[in-house]
Amino acid sequence: LVKSRGRGSFRFYQPQMNVNLLSHLKMDHAMRQAMDKGLFRLHYQPQISLANGSLQGAEALIRWTDDELGEVPPSMFIPLAEESGFITTLGTWVLEEAVRQASQWQNRGTPVTVSVNVSALQFHQADFVETVAAVIRAAGLAPQLLELELTESILIRDANETLGRLHALADLGVALSIDDFGTGYSSLAYLKRFPISKLKIDRSFVTGLPDDEGDRAIVSATIGMARGLKLKVVAEGVETEAQRDYLASLGCESFQGFLCTPGLSAPAFERFITRLPDTASMPLDLQRLTI
Ligand code: C2E
Ligand code: MG
Ligand code: MG
Ligand code: MG
Repeated sequence: LVKSRGRGSFRFYQPQMNVNLLSHLKMDHAMRQAMDKGLFRLHYQPQISLANGSLQGAEALIRWTDDELGEVPPSMFIPLAEESGFITTLGTWVLEEAVRQASQWQNRGTPVTVSVNVSALQFHQADFVETVAAVIRAAGLAPQLLELELTESILIRDANETLGRLHALADLGVALSIDDFGTGYSSLAYLKRFPISKLKIDRSFVTGLPDDEGDRAIVSATIGMARGLKLKVVAEGVETEAQRDYLASLGCESFQGFLCTPGLSAPAFERFITRLPDTASMPLDLQRLTI
């Protein structure tokens, strides 16, 4: 028997798991060391209006440059961190760092709405809502300048508890979006019931635009439905002008992608946004307050 997840749950040890398990344990150890050494950083990827090219917000993306392992991509360590439970520590660090950065931008008079990826284990922590509230309060951040990106896997679990938690977060004033929309197994019913404000169309549906008939159908249906439900739509992973123009023709509000820029360090992000048209980078009610 091998102890896993450190919460008294056990799974059977099988010989073929050896390599995998060992590397998982090593990876978990490396992650904890990286945290102690301060090797995690956040990059920020702009979300750009398709109507006028202005900044709508930025997604915080975690980066880990390890002394020995080099650049470790999130696709490699986030799933492991979710498995080992380390994601709760990592997720709290991401939240604090993103909020610290957002409040710095706010206090300099260049507010940016920052989106933070939240994983399921983190969202379902008993004290998640209090943690979010405490972090934004401590930083003095206007809550509208924080957005939480939730995946469909979060939303399908324990509907009543989830609904209560979403309302508690919405009541704090933070924005909620659904990440990788269309890739999960959830029902569309939640779109109507949950206090979310934005859908993020997954890159896998954007890649084939504008030629792929299936992607066209899925993306235009998603945008149409979002409009009916008064949700904003961001397209992820836009790499070509043809994709961008097609999305704009469907009335999609904004996009993220290499066509504009990959995620940037905070200083590089600050330089980048000075070149953008000077309009909304913040919720309208805040614009009126600060202009
Ligand atoms: P995601 O939230 O869907 O983030 C978008 C991913 O697409 C990012 O990968 C981003 O760099 C990449 N991307 C953006 N534009 C393009 C493009 O035009 N083309 C292509 N090919 N890729 C593009 P990244 O940073 O490697 O992150 C991968 C995933 O890891 C994220 O997917 C998210 O699920 C997770 N992740 C990243 N940071 C965090 C975090 O702080 N916390 C949690 N829980 N998960 C995170
Ligand atoms: Mg995301
Ligand atoms: Mg996404
Ligand atoms: Mg995605």
